[in-house]
Amino acid sequence: MTKRYCYHCQTQHPEEEMRLMVTKTGKRWRCIKSIEATKKSQAEREAFGKRVSEINKAEASSKAKQLNQNSNNS
Ligand SMILES: [Zn+2]
Repeated sequence: MTKRYCYHCQTQHPEEEMRLMVTKTGKRWRCIKSIEATKKSQAEREAFGKRVSEINKAEASSKAKQLNQNSNNS
């Protein structure tokens, strides 16, 4: 079984679990597991960012409503 050095885990994995990645500095072997983990965490970060911006938007609009109500009452 051929083993390749994974630049992400800094250890060796079997070649069939590896993908050859082309980077700015050249070609590097990286394991599929770490690629999938990165993809997943990026998607989670994006989902989290979206959620936060939606909360911020909702808060901003509820504050705007309150301001409107206050000015109407006075
Ligand atoms: Zn790895």
